[in-house]
Amino acid sequence: DPRIPKIASSIRVIPDFPKPGIMFQDITTLLLDTEAFKDTVDIFVERYKGKGISVVAGVEARGFIFGPPIALAIGAKFVPMRKPKKLPGKVISEEYSLEYGTDKIEMHVGAVEPGERAIIIDDLIATGGTLAAAIRLLERVGVTIAECACVIELPVLKGREKLGETPLFILVTSD
Ligand code: 5GP
Repeated sequence: DPRIPKIASSIRVIPDFPKPGIMFQDITTLLLDTEAFKDTVDIFVERYKGKGISVVAGVEARGFIFGPPIALAIGAKFVPMRKPKKLPGKVISEEYSLEYGTDKIEMHVGAVEPGERAIIIDDLIATGGTLAAAIRLLERVGVTIAECACVIELPVLKGREKLGETPLFILVTSD
């Protein structure tokens, strides 16, 4: 796809953020590039439109940027998967492990119905822990995950292997 190189070059890399040794992939520069941002959303929309997807689940925080325009364009609802204690209603939550300790993501009870088909959107897959937890959470309530979709994959971390049978679609890889 000829749009991919421009998307890749619009992503800024910030060394040593948030800690020494991390090369942070900063997608805010992609958002400043009106063509790259539109192309990113368009590629996902072309892939998922007309495929019976009724749910776009976006992972906090940057899944909240890419998810909603995709949801609107394919005629699906947008469901935020949030960090703990952010959602005001009754939630179900799923824990996942970090390098040190654990974290959780939460979703409102009643946001999705058993039998719905979802895609899960985030900006980046690193270890895959976050997306794996999002998959478990949606599967617990009877939703089928058609695919996970991210802008960026860090393949050295092998996060893809944590997703089991669920396919992963990405636009750009980085090392
Ligand atoms: P994982 O659970 O796959 O290890 O981490 C993925 C999560 O961390 C995603 O929600 C993603 O937004 C965030 N993340 C980790 N590293 C980076 C990075 O370099 N850039 C950005 N934009 N997000 C990151």
